[in-house]
Amino acid sequence: MALIVQKYGGTSVGSIERIKNVACRIAKFQSSGHQLIVVVSAMSGETNRLLALAKEAQENPDPRELDVLVSTGEQVTIALLSMTLIEMGFKARSYTGDQVSIHTDNAYNKARILKIDEDKLRADLDAGYIVVVAGFQGVDETGNITTLGRGGSDTTGVALAAALRAKECQIYTDVDGVYTTDPRIVPEARRLKTITFEEMMELASLGSKVLQIRSVEFAGKYKVRLRVLSSFKEGGEGTLITFEEDDNMEQAIISGIAFNRDEAKITVLGVPDRPGIAYQILGPVADANIDVDMIIQNVGVDGTTDFSFTVHRTEFARTMGILKDQVQPHIGARDVVGGDKIAKVSIVGVGMRSYVGIASKMFRSLAEEGINIQMISTSEIKISVIVDEKYMELAVRILHKTFELDQAP
Ligand code: ASP
Ligand code: MG
Repeated sequence: MALIVQKYGGTSVGSIERIKNVACRIAKFQSSGHQLIVVVSAMSGETNRLLALAKEAQENPDPRELDVLVSTGEQVTIALLSMTLIEMGFKARSYTGDQVSIHTDNAYNKARILKIDEDKLRADLDAGYIVVVAGFQGVDETGNITTLGRGGSDTTGVALAAALRAKECQIYTDVDGVYTTDPRIVPEARRLKTITFEEMMELASLGSKVLQIRSVEFAGKYKVRLRVLSSFKEGGEGTLITFEEDDNMEQAIISGIAFNRDEAKITVLGVPDRPGIAYQILGPVADANIDVDMIIQNVGVDGTTDFSFTVHRTEFARTMGILKDQVQPHIGARDVVGGDKIAKVSIVGVGMRSYVGIASKMFRSLAEEGINIQMISTSEIKISVIVDEKYMELAVRILHKTFELDQAP
């Protein structure tokens, strides 16, 4: 008998009909002798609905009250799922994050889980209950309700699996695993049987929406066996997220391609080439709490250079304002220019470590399509390029083909 944590996302519990489907799946696992903790999201669309209501009440919703509000979505689904299971003759019991308790810090809307009390859950499991826990929420030191950020139910699932040392954490969603890229853009995209934690971390941070990045971080840190599966398809094995050291299968060089349109690019032109300039440009940006992603500084010619970086698209106007008002006059730069019609396309794979020429292969295939690369950044296991937004899908398709991701390694 093994303890398994299953997490079902919003579309999987989007109606009573679907909740019944989920209940049948749970019932099967329970009947085959497993102990089950089930984490659920709010019904699809519900969290967005609540966020919109909040905005109607208050232009900038109070963070504490916002968490009191949005955490209700998950409270609805835990009760409905438990009732459905009880109706089917099973013993089931639901818990909110506070009731468990799932202790978090006090960062409303993006809280981090610190500790989970397991006593109640253990006692229920031992008494034969299916335990149903609300995802996405916790409680701070003084009893305030907190939430974990969009997609946070994944993290609740993984954290519970870590705390209770479950055999596996299964994330049931509307896709049947992690794909080489988004099948809506590349129909030949292939489901990966396995992917390493590091690759999944990169993909999640570069734009793949399958798992909340914090859940992957958590699983990596506590060595939780994590699997992504479809809640609609029967019998699939999904994608298992593995640790590189125990993965002795033939590794593909590239595992996946991620993309996003979330960024904007800013260039400060004609910057004096002297010590402290990068700090003088990015200091005020950091002070305004704006995250910077890619950064490029050119070699200086005749005492000046150009300095480019990207920020989240929603911060584009604010960042331009800071640079024009505070930075440009202060350091004597010639101009500040920028644009938000860009996209980031990234190839990810641990195999990159042991092969040379991956970057040149990537750049050549983009060049053959006439796609201009505006910025490049690399890490040990990924290469990202910034291209014009209108070439994003083409770039993804070309790279998918170039690296033969439609074929099993
Ligand atoms: N309901 C929350 C959201 O929509 C949490 C989750 O679904 O994981 O972001
Ligand atoms: Mg999700």
